Amino acid sequence: MNVPEYVAIDPASAALLVHWPDGTVGRLPFAELRSACMCAQCRKRKLDGRAPSQPPNVQLLDARPSGYGLQLVFDDGHERGIFPWTYLERLARGARHTAGDQEPGTQPICTDLDA
Ligand SMILES: [Zn+2]
Repeated sequence: MNVPEYVAIDPASAALLVHWPDGTVGRLPFAELRSACMCAQCRKRKLDGRAPSQPPNVQLLDARPSGYGLQLVFDDGHERGIFPWTYLERLARGARHTAGDQEPGTQPICTDLDA
């Protein structure tokens, strides 16, 4: 199982950035994460076959590492959904940048602080 090195909320692009150990970055739009919410309420709604109500401009307020996954706090009150790393990985890999899209400078660089 892959565990991200770190995740970052990018309000500018309304996406969660998932940094994987191999240096690639997955970009997960808030709306996509919201519709993939796995909290009890959303799971029940999906089991009932009801289309998830999806606020168009949902914001992600917080992303808290929580043992086996990431707890995502949305501004519409959904904050109990834990996204297991494997689930997040599957979502992120679908949205993963190709190598050509990667920004330079993602590798650690030794700098001479005395220069
Ligand atoms: Zn939910």
